[in-house]
Amino acid sequence: MHSGADNTDSATEYTQLTADAAIARLSAALRKSETRPSMTECQCCGETIAQARREAVRGVQLCVSCAELEWLRVNGVPRRG
Ligand SMILES: [Zn+2]
Repeated sequence: MHSGADNTDSATEYTQLTADAAIARLSAALRKSETRPSMTECQCCGETIAQARREAVRGVQLCVSCAELEWLRVNGVPRRG
C-alpha cells in the first residue's frame, strides 16, 4: 500500500533535485563563458552589447538587462551595487 505522505516527499525531493540541476547547469555555463570570446549581441534577447561592456566583462554573453535577470535566477536576490 502506498501512503500519501510518501508521494508528497517524492514530489518535493524531485522538485529540489531539478532545481539543483538547473542551478548546476547555469553555474557550469557561466564558468564556461569565462573562456569564450565576448559576444557582440546578447545571446538571450539579441540586443547589441556595448563595446565598453564587452571589454569590461571577459566572455560576456548577455546584455546588462539579461545579465541582471540571470543573476536573479541564480542567486534569488537582486544584485547590489
Ligand atoms: Zn539581453
